[in-house]
Parts: sequence; C-alpha cells; structure tokens
Amino acid sequence: MSENLKILFMSSEVHPLAKTGGLADVSMALPKALRRQGHDVRIAMPCYKTIDRSKFDVQYVTDFPLKTNNFTHTCVIRKTEINCQPAKKRAKTPVKLPIYLIDSYEYFDREGLYNDAAGDYIDNARRFGYFCRAALEMLHKIDFEPDVIHLNDWQTAISSLLIKRVYNDDKIFKNAASVFTIHNLQYQGVFDMQALVDLDLTWQYYSPEYLEYYGKINLMKAGIIFSDVINTVSETYASEIQNGSLGMGLEGLLSTKKNDLYAITNGIDYDEWNPETDPNIAENYCVKTYAQKKIACKRDLQKACNLPQKDVPIIGMVSRLADQKGLDIIERAMPELMKLDVQFVLLGTGEQRYIEMLYHFLKLYPEKCAFFLKFDAFVASKIYAGSDFFLMPSKFEPCGTSQLISLKYGTIPIVRATGGLADTISAFDTRTQQGNGFSFADYNETTLLKCIEHALVIYQNKQMWNVLVKNAMQCDFSWEASADKYVALYHKAMQKHKLKY
Ligand code: ADP
Repeated sequence: MSENLKILFMSSEVHPLAKTGGLADVSMALPKALRRQGHDVRIAMPCYKTIDRSKFDVQYVTDFPLKTNNFTHTCVIRKTEINCQPAKKRAKTPVKLPIYLIDSYEYFDREGLYNDAAGDYIDNARRFGYFCRAALEMLHKIDFEPDVIHLNDWQTAISSLLIKRVYNDDKIFKNAASVFTIHNLQYQGVFDMQALVDLDLTWQYYSPEYLEYYGKINLMKAGIIFSDVINTVSETYASEIQNGSLGMGLEGLLSTKKNDLYAITNGIDYDEWNPETDPNIAENYCVKTYAQKKIACKRDLQKACNLPQKDVPIIGMVSRLADQKGLDIIERAMPELMKLDVQFVLLGTGEQRYIEMLYHFLKLYPEKCAFFLKFDAFVASKIYAGSDFFLMPSKFEPCGTSQLISLKYGTIPIVRATGGLADTISAFDTRTQQGNGFSFADYNETTLLKCIEHALVIYQNKQMWNVLVKNAMQCDFSWEASADKYVALYHKAMQKHKLKY
C-alpha cells in the first residue's frame, strides 16, 4: 500500500487556473494531497484562453500531430507547476505538482469553459474528445507510463473507452487502471449521435450497451461502462443515484455496477480556505479569536453590500444559480424570510430567470438584501467570513464544498439533508450540544423557513451559539483522510485491471 503510484489526473477545470464550481477545488486539492504523500501525480487540463499564462508561468513543452476525423491538428502541450508544500513549510524545498495544459486555438481560445451567453458550445463533444485524445497521446511525449488514470465527470469520460478500445495495443496503457469519479450526475455530456463522428468512434458504439441514450449519445456512460472502478463524492449520493429521480436516467446502469461503485467524501484544502490566513477578509481569526474578530468581517461585508451596519444575523450564499441549488424554494420563502430580522447576501452566476428573480427581490427589499451577480473569489471569502449562516437548500448535492468552507469560517450551514450535505452536516442538538449546523429534509419553503427560524433562536442564545460555532470550526474535512481512501481505490482499480488483462 505504501508504494508510490504514477497517476494521470484528468479534469476540465482546476483551481486556481480555471473554475466554475467544486470540481475545480477537488481537482487541485486531491492531486496536491496525493503529491504530498509522495505519489507522482500529473494533472492534464485544457489550456483555456482565460488562464493567466504569465501569472502561472506557463511554459511550452512540446507539440505533435494529432489525427482525428481525417484531419490533423497540431497539438501543443504547455505546462505549469504548483508548489504544494503546506503553507507553514514553504521555506523548505518546494514539492511541485505539474499541470499539463492541452492547447488548441480552435477549441479553447474562448471566453467560457463550456458555454457563453448563447448556451453550451455546440462543439463540446469535439472539444473534450480532442482534449482526451491529446492528453492520452501526450504520455508518449512526456514519457509517463501511469499506474492509474483518474477521470472526472463527462468531459474526461471517453478516455476510458479510448484506453480500452482504441489504444488497447499501446503499451503505455498496459498497466493503466482507470478510475472514473462522478462529481455531478446532472451533467452527462449528451449529444446528437453525429457526435460519434466528431469523436472519431465507429458506429458500433451507438448501441444501448455502450453510448446510445434515448436516440443520442451519452459520454458519461463511457466512463461508467469502461472504467475499472467508479466512485462518487459522498455515501448518501452514491445510494441516491442508484434509484429514483437522482439517477437522472442512469440509475439502471449504475445499479448494475453497484459492486464497482464506491463513495469517497470530498475534503477542502485548508491552505486555500482558512480564516487564519485568508488575505481577502477584514480580520483573520481562528477558533480561539473568532468571538472578537469575526465581527469586523461582518461589518466589512455589510459595508461592501451597502447594508445597514447593525447587529442582525446575516444569511450568506455563494452558489451557481441553477435549479439544483434550491433557488425555487428560496423564491417562495422570500416574502416570509424578509419579515424576519435578517440580512440576506448572495454571490452567484447562472440562469437568467434566477438573475431576474434576484433583481425583483432587490427592488422589494433593498435594506435587507444584497446580490453580487459575478464569479469572484474575493467576494466569496468576504461572504464566508462575514455571514453568520450559510444557506444551501439544495434539491440534490453530490458532496458540496461550500458548506465545508463555511464550517471552517465559523459560518453555520443551514442545509437540506441530501447527498454530501446529509453526510457532512449534523443538526445541532440543544440537549447534547453536538452538531455543526441545521438541516431539514422535505424540499419545500415551509420546512426551509422552519429550519431558519429554529437556527435564529439558537443564534440568540449566545452560550449555545458559541458551542455551535466552535463545533463547526473544529470539524476536520481536510483532504489527507480522503486522499488515503483514493489511494486504496486506485489499488482496487489496479487489481481489477490486472485480472482483466
Ligand atoms: P458546485 O460544484 O455544484 O457548484 P460546490 O459547493 O461543490 O458546488 O462548489 C462551489 C465552489 O464554487 C465553492 O468553492 C464556491 O465558493 C465557488 N463558487 C460558486 N459560485 C461562485 C461565485 N459566483 N464566485 C466565486 N466562487 C464561487
């Protein structure tokens, strides 16, 4: 178990280079934790136009011709390295984590990662198919023969089919076991059947046992079918996706794979998310000093929001504006919520109808709400530190990282008990004084409001509130334990791979 592994980690977004959500956080924090343990991890991601090449000192590595659909691209590989030494040990020799960037003017020289204002890019199958082929073929050029190829979500899923069926004679993949992690089953990479041509795959894959899906093709299916093992990011979500609505049409396939379906709860990177060191907040604090110092962060947030600077509980949210995040029940709860003595602050980007909803509420309650409709890490930190509560009433949530960040900042999560929220947030029990937040089960505005009202009662009881904040801040969701579980999963995948080949 202690042997160091060679791991290729493929992801479509990696913090801090490119990020739309929690996948980017995981795609930096997990490889970093593995690298610190001594494993030879290399990340591969697309070289998006928006990546700041001078800030990350991006260097040219090599280029090679890549032939797909009778068309030959010149594939350019670039590289950057991230120092993954823990913050407190930075003075010692750096431990570097290489990130290989797959460049293509045609596919990645765009403002968005997956979409723009007009919607998803129509050539997404082609874009990410190219990324997968290029990342796999790059291994010859960098002379890296991985023990494990770790794939993440639909954008990388086709790689497992390529390894098993297209590059099956290539000796660089002989010992490469594949692990496919489902971070969110809602996004499956479903395209018209024509995408098979874009992916340069034969029509044999247009069949229900492979990629066919209600007359279209589904790339996530490739990851599930062809990978040696699959996992998702919390125990509860792993069982939720095997039945009912959360299987999103793949529940049948996933339950046939249940012996190869594992669950590992995400952590967060406390070098990135730590109120003791966060440069974006008004005062740094820890569990010993929050009672004196967090108030400065609250006043700073109120000032940034143009809200009255008074001692009223602030409910914060940092979220994609998407159905998944429970915005419809917030909409219905809002008139009652605004009757309570609270302020509500939200940072988010996403669907137009929710943007309009927020503008509508801003007009109605300018003294009590503030909304930032952009993607902004600076404002996010201010909300995590300056709020009293963090709201996450998700319809479903594979794991969620925001509630873990808010725990660390002593900002108490109010969550719907689903997926990873159910596994990481335990309701505060006034009798035992155990628990790190508040949660409700039924997905509707009445239970949401009841839960918020109960939370506000505890907020008024300063003795209990202090216990709760301490419980929250002392939770340990660091990546170390989860990284060990991934190593065990990699070994399982390697055993399975050996048995098959
Ligand atoms: P998801 O991946 O479903 O969007 P998570 O809770 O797993 O949700 O991760 C969200 C991550 O993205 C967190 O790190 C959160 O702080 C960040 N985030 C979301 N929206 C924004 C935004 N508008 N500005 C800055 N950070 C954001």
